[in-house]
Amino acid sequence: MMGRLPDFIDPIRLAKRGEYLVGQMDLRDMDRLQSMLVSGQGMLDVQLAFDVDDAGIRNICGQIQTDVTVTCQRCLKPMDYVLEAEVMLGIIKHRDQADKLSDCYEPLLIETDEISLRDIVEDELILAMPATPMHDEDDCQSIDAYKKHDTDTADKAERKNPFAVLENLKQELKDKK
Ligand SMILES: [Zn+2]
Repeated sequence: MMGRLPDFIDPIRLAKRGEYLVGQMDLRDMDRLQSMLVSGQGMLDVQLAFDVDDAGIRNICGQIQTDVTVTCQRCLKPMDYVLEAEVMLGIIKHRDQADKLSDCYEPLLIETDEISLRDIVEDELILAMPATPMHDEDDCQSIDAYKKHDTDTADKAERKNPFAVLENLKQELKDKK
């Protein structure tokens, strides 16, 4: 059932009960994520399952997805992007418990009973942000200029090189005299 998600959750209690949280959140409330985007006006879909695994680790698994606009790092034009985060969080209450978590979990340190669901979701989306988002080559507006720029620089470097070598040789000969 899609519904309004709670602002604060007690993840340990939810895990013990094996509960699910499914619903939507407003992307506009997420300032840290917003600062990384050209725009993100829509809603994001959240599906989270809380559980305790065979090793007794209380965990949160699921998926978060939203449509955003980011800047293409090649042509610097806006580009639509489906931002998706796979969530696999192992809940820990002390930092040193992180070592005992199996590798499949990211540690989620919880120091108070209730934590902000929005913070968890926002953190996961920020982690899932691509470092250098780029259009597909066919869609990218500056792909030709980019390729040309690349060859130009390579040409110059090649052309310049023989002279540089000669200069060095001359200098070496001078030094020997
Ligand atoms: Zn582009």
